[in-house]
Amino acid sequence: MPERSENGSPEKLREKIIGLGEKSIRKSYYPELRERIAELEASNGRLREEMAEGVRSRRAMAEAEGKYRALFQTMTEMVALFELVYDDAGSPSDYRCLECNDSFVGTTGLPRDRTEGHAFSDVLRSSPPPHLDEYALVVRTGNPLHYMEYSTSTGRHYSVSVVSLGSLRFATIAADITDIKNAEEIIAAKNKELEHYLHIASHDLRAPLVNIQGFSARLGNLATYVKRLMESVELPAETAERLSDVLNAQVPRAVEFITSNVARMDRLISGLLQISRTGRIVMTVRRVDMNSLVRGIVGGYSYQIDLDRATVELDNLPDCFGDETLLVQLFENLLTNALKYRDSARSLAIRVSATAGMTRNVYCVSDTGIGIAPDQVIRIWDAFYRVDWDGAIPGEGIGLSIAKRIADKHGGRIWVESEVGKGSSFFVELPAQEFIATE
Ligand code: ADP
Repeated sequence: MPERSENGSPEKLREKIIGLGEKSIRKSYYPELRERIAELEASNGRLREEMAEGVRSRRAMAEAEGKYRALFQTMTEMVALFELVYDDAGSPSDYRCLECNDSFVGTTGLPRDRTEGHAFSDVLRSSPPPHLDEYALVVRTGNPLHYMEYSTSTGRHYSVSVVSLGSLRFATIAADITDIKNAEEIIAAKNKELEHYLHIASHDLRAPLVNIQGFSARLGNLATYVKRLMESVELPAETAERLSDVLNAQVPRAVEFITSNVARMDRLISGLLQISRTGRIVMTVRRVDMNSLVRGIVGGYSYQIDLDRATVELDNLPDCFGDETLLVQLFENLLTNALKYRDSARSLAIRVSATAGMTRNVYCVSDTGIGIAPDQVIRIWDAFYRVDWDGAIPGEGIGLSIAKRIADKHGGRIWVESEVGKGSSFFVELPAQEFIATE
């Protein structure tokens, strides 16, 4: 039997065979292996980057959360987050406070631990809690709500916005507007006082004006009388010529000048009286059928509309609340202006439309008239202001100032969007709910 060397032992032989196997495996799989290792390293790198990014975004989120939390807590507005509660029949029956800020706690005097997590019917001992239906509507539609409210418990006025946060949640944001309200009340009182003086002044100016009117007419008649007397007497030629010039030309010219200025002054005083009357009127607020109101006004101008070959389109208009007589005056001013300020270069199309809201509706009277230049847009609401043009269109420049007063009296707004050569759209915001007239 041949002698086996050390290397020839079965173990060594096995190792050698395995070694050779590994070598050949490495040889054939080495490139793939390297590729795989490179891939693993790359994905490892990406993983590390993603982890770092995750850390960064978590930090950014924490920072943003911190910022919003600080904002939430330090805001002077009262902010509270709520969740609607439904009864077994699936109807909203309550709302639960999830969180409220320091201002809410401080102003309402409701302790945080008795507010957060509690149903508001319990907190306020009022079932259902206030504005439940309105809040439920915000949650259902996603449309924000805005209202003003006087709180008897704090004796202050608030402007409240309600916004949906999704998943049955909503937030109320209330700002204390008592100072603004007080300032508004002072301004309103001052305005009332001014209107009172305006009324007295314009009323008292009327009487002397009537006298001037009467006496200037008499002056004209006297001149005619003297002229007739002159015909029966013999006068030196030069005197007769001079007197004839005075009586036939100068006096009638002066009388005409006085009469036309008196007429203008009379129109201005009438305007002042109209403005003061609008301000002083005690409103009778009731539901107003805007379709029949606008149809009535348009009907009254049908002759003019036909004559102008204008078209008037009336959309279905929601009812509003207000003083019907004043609202007729407001919309009549807008509609007659649309007819007056037409553009001869194109046909006139007038449209009355509206957007219904929960607390307010916005009505729009649009036309394809001459339009108003941007620098005039804020001035047209001033009493006696007329955009400077040839003056062929009659008017005293008080229609829009009266329209603005009427909108103000309703707690509403009026504004215009216009483009010269294209037309104008006058918007009027009016209450969609019953309200108590304050003036
Ligand atoms: P008035 O019509 O008697 O001049 P308003 O107060 O009603 O008085 O209007 C003020 C001015 O606003 C008008 O002189 C006119 O220049 C401008 N204006 C009003 N309505 C329109 C309109 N629909 N299109 C173009 N201009 C208008």
